[in-house]
Parts: sequence; structure tokens; C-alpha cells
Amino acid sequence: MFKLTPRLKPNYTFSDWIAALNIFQKNPIDSYEKEFANKFQNYYGVMFQHGRTGLYALLKVWELENDEVICPAYTCVVVPNAIVLSGNIPVFVDSSKESFNMNLELLEKTITEKTKAIVVTHIFGYPMDVVKVQEIVKNAEQKYGHKIYVIQDAAHSYGAKWQEKLVTKYGDAAIFGSNISKVINSIFGGMVSTNSKETYEKLKSWRKSNSKASGFSKSIKRFIYFVAVNIAFNSYVYGFVNWLERIGALDRFVKYFEEDKIYFPTDWDMMPSSIEARVGRNQLKKYNYIMENRIKNAKNWINKLQDEECQFMQDMQGSTYSHCVALVENRDEWLEKYRNEGIQLGILIEYSIPYMKAYESYKRGEYPVSLEYSKKSINFPNWV
Ligand SMILES: *Cc1c(COP(=O)(O)O)cnc(C)c1O
Repeated sequence: MFKLTPRLKPNYTFSDWIAALNIFQKNPIDSYEKEFANKFQNYYGVMFQHGRTGLYALLKVWELENDEVICPAYTCVVVPNAIVLSGNIPVFVDSSKESFNMNLELLEKTITEKTKAIVVTHIFGYPMDVVKVQEIVKNAEQKYGHKIYVIQDAAHSYGAKWQEKLVTKYGDAAIFGSNISKVINSIFGGMVSTNSKETYEKLKSWRKSNSKASGFSKSIKRFIYFVAVNIAFNSYVYGFVNWLERIGALDRFVKYFEEDKIYFPTDWDMMPSSIEARVGRNQLKKYNYIMENRIKNAKNWINKLQDEECQFMQDMQGSTYSHCVALVENRDEWLEKYRNEGIQLGILIEYSIPYMKAYESYKRGEYPVSLEYSKKSINFPNWV
């Protein structure tokens, strides 16, 4: 009766259980960092408890303070949260009409002499034109006479390529999120990868002096969470879980933002635990398989729905389809129709950040395209 295909689901298999339980692995965090950086062709990786913690740490070690950091209006709210909490000022750029990413012309106009960093997000796995971004940034650096850091936000775009080159090879650093809603995960956790030895060493030392120790009880809690996730995402159980979610009983676990608050979760500055790194390492091994199949599943949806009244972005080479997203006019009807067929659709991302209560004071003008996306986007489950 309750059977429901969830909108997202982590790819946990037997090998992840083995990894989670293999407490004899030596220094899994170090290994995970190296393997991760290697996979996405950067020299160094530093693991954090969340992707947002990594962004926060980058802004701190680069000593940005009261500076303007540009990011998309249409992105995950944890990004501007990290910018504000690090003592900086988020400046938003509206989306392009051709993809869900920042409009490059607007980006160029938004840079001022106060701009010290730009978060380049490849949302839903659609690559941004990183070559053009580089050119814009270079011109601005010459004009204003100071460094402008470029951070690739690869939380949705593990492995995305622009002109056959990984987007994470561009810029000063890349951030990744790897909670259970991401393409691969380390239970919780996030990563920063970089080619700069200096940035790497500073991040390591920042983490050392600013992180709370991650003890045995946290490992146990993470293991319990891992087990719970395995149970909850079974499609028979999930129907019931979804019902609990809809009546609000799970807000504590599933809600990741509040309209009117800029905050971090309480575990934000904890050292990631070994169990998370062990699961992350195993997920990394399955990365190619997961990615190929996510793309395949997304393309199946797109083919299947081509005559329906929903609009997909044009297929872009190098996209990784972290989500299979379409724009529809009457979102609630779509949600309802699919739910009746036993499939849960997602609505990610359902806000344009400068229009959120917490960010009103950072709003500069209007962001109509992102606002439209926030009202019309819907995503079809393409997990493996
Ligand atoms: C998930 C996500 C992040 C990082 O999220 P954490 O939950 O902090 O790991 C960053 N940017 C985008 C666009 C995301 O979706």
C-alpha cells in the first residue's frame, strides 16, 4: 500500500557494509583524500564534515573578511550560509536561460573592486563554461589589481567536463558535498580539492586547530545512521517514511534550511570520522558505474517524457546528471500524479536565495530567471 520509489537514494551495496565495518583500515581519511583528489585530477584533497565547512575553511585560510563573494542566486542555500558565517558578503547572480547555471554576462557585470572570490556552481551536473569564467576573472584581476579566487562548486558535478576537461581542473579549489543526497557519499562529509600546495597546507592546519574531535560515540551514531538509511530507502518502507515526512514528523532529520535563518548544523566543525571516510572510499570505487547509470537513467526519462508538457535543458556534453530536472507549469499536479503511480518526484531547488527572508538584505535588484526555476523545477529519480 505504501510502496513508493524515492526521489533520491544512496547507492549502498554489500561492499559499503564491509567498508563501514572494516575498523582495521589504517588512516582511511588520508587515503580517501588522496584517492579522491586523484580521481578528479587535483593534487590534494582535504575532507571536512560537510561541503559547506570546506567552503568556509577556504574563505578563512585565504583571509577573506568583509569581502564580496559571488555565487548563484539559484543554488543550495548552504553556500551563501558559509559565505555569511565566514564574515563575508554574498553577492548573487541570476541564472542563464540555457542552463540552470549563472548567466555569464551578468557575472561579468556583478564583479566589482570588492569581489574577492567567485563560487562557480555546475548545478545538477551541467558544466559551466569554465574557460569563459577564467577569461572574465583574468580581466577583472587586471582591472582591479588583486587576486579573485575561483572555487568550483562540484557538489552536483563530480566528474563534469567542459570541452572534455574536468571542471575541477580550473580555478583555485573545488568543493564537494557527499551526504546521502549526493551522487556518491561518505554518509556525511565533504571534500575540498586543490592543486595549490599552499592552500592544502593551510586547510590542513585550519582543520587541525578548528575541529572538534570525532570520538567513538560519533562513529557509532554514524553507523546507526548508515543502517537507518539502508532501511528507510527501501521502497516499501519509504512510502511510510514519506508519509511521516509529509506530516512533518521528520523535519529534524530532513530539513536542511530555514527561510529566515543563516546557520550551520551543530556538527559542522567536527572532524569527519573514519567510518565516513571508509564508506567514501568504497563509493569512489563505484563512481564510474554509478555515473554511467545515472546518465543513462536521466536520458531514459528525457526520452520517455519528450511529448509531455515539461521542458528539459538541452543535453550538454560533459553533464553528469546529478539530478534529472525539468521545468513544468503545474508542479503540484505532477507531484500528485506520480505519487499516485508510486514514484516520488523531487523539487530541488525550490527557492531563489535572494528572495529568502534571511537574505533579503543582500538582494540587489531582481533575479527573475532563478525565481522561475525555483517555481517550476521538478526532478525525476535517476539514482542507481
Ligand atoms: C550539497 C551542496 C553543497 C555542499 O553541501 P553540504 O551539505 O555542506 O555537504 C554545496 N553546493 C551545492 C550546490 C550543493 O547542492
